[in-house]
Amino acid sequence: KAQSSGHNTWTTYDQTMKLDLTQEMALVADLREAILTDKLELYYQPQVQIATGQVTGVEALLRWKHPVYGEIPPACFVLLAERSGLANRLTEWVLEHACRQGKKWLDAGVKFGRIAVNISANCFAGGWLNKAVRRVLAATGLEPQFLELEITENIEIVSTAVVRDMLAELRRSGITIAFDDFGIGYSSFKYIKLFPLDTVKIDRLFVADVTHDVSSYAIVQTVIRLAADLGLSTVAEGVETVEQLTLLQAAGCDKYQGYLLSPPVPARDVVALLCRHSR
Ligand code: C2E
Ligand code: MG
Ligand code: MG
Ligand code: MG
Repeated sequence: KAQSSGHNTWTTYDQTMKLDLTQEMALVADLREAILTDKLELYYQPQVQIATGQVTGVEALLRWKHPVYGEIPPACFVLLAERSGLANRLTEWVLEHACRQGKKWLDAGVKFGRIAVNISANCFAGGWLNKAVRRVLAATGLEPQFLELEITENIEIVSTAVVRDMLAELRRSGITIAFDDFGIGYSSFKYIKLFPLDTVKIDRLFVADVTHDVSSYAIVQTVIRLAADLGLSTVAEGVETVEQLTLLQAAGCDKYQGYLLSPPVPARDVVALLCRHSR
């Protein structure tokens, strides 16, 4: 089924992507090859301060155009990487390319706030992430205050104490930490209390419903209030309409990302985008 034509094929799989073992192994081999030969690409989606319209960051999002299957959604192949031992190599590829791009923009006088990189949970094992970040920053010359790491709560792999210490060390160096997809997991509240964070990203599942579902709006209001009480900033993900933005602003949300502002775009289009949004 995986080799049938058209990229819509992938949307018929859920995130666990039920390929048979042979298909999965072949795809993992293709992904390993794509990492080695730089066949992946990063798109960037801007994030802005709601009150001022100022760009506070750009999130790096992986794109992979498979030679046979076409575009495969990152949610699918990232999961594949995570369960086949490729997560570290994939994450290092993203860190390296994002930081190199950030350094390039800075050298050209382009102000983008921070570059945000999504981090696989596996990367916390053995202290790998902190070593990789240090290595990549040194190699690219990007300073830590231009980097944000986005983590999700899918981190049962390592003890929470280890993750907490690793995050604390990263933050001491000037890197900020955002908690991605807040609210959709089982333990969002446990982790918001446990981990040293800077930002909470409210999952777009809630954002999508704020205009027509009273309970979604109540949840969003509560999360924003809680984050503020804990000294964290809030980002709304997946904002698509002015109505959603208005409600989020009324609830005190700090920043937003979403198609209303811009979809993720290739690196070459970022400068024009930032110019349009700087004042
Ligand atoms: P995420 O980190 O929560 O990223 C946000 C996703 O929402 C992106 O999907 C983005 O394109 C999409 N999005 C942004 N604005 C809107 C909107 O207004 N409406 C809608 N419907 N969607 C919007 P994308 O690029 O397909 O990535 C999906 C997920 O794949 C990401 O969710 C992240 O978990 C994972 N991912 C992507 N790149 C990487 C990466 O470099 N490393 C890791 N570990 N995971 C990645
Ligand atoms: Mg993210
Ligand atoms: Mg997210
Ligand atoms: Mg999400």
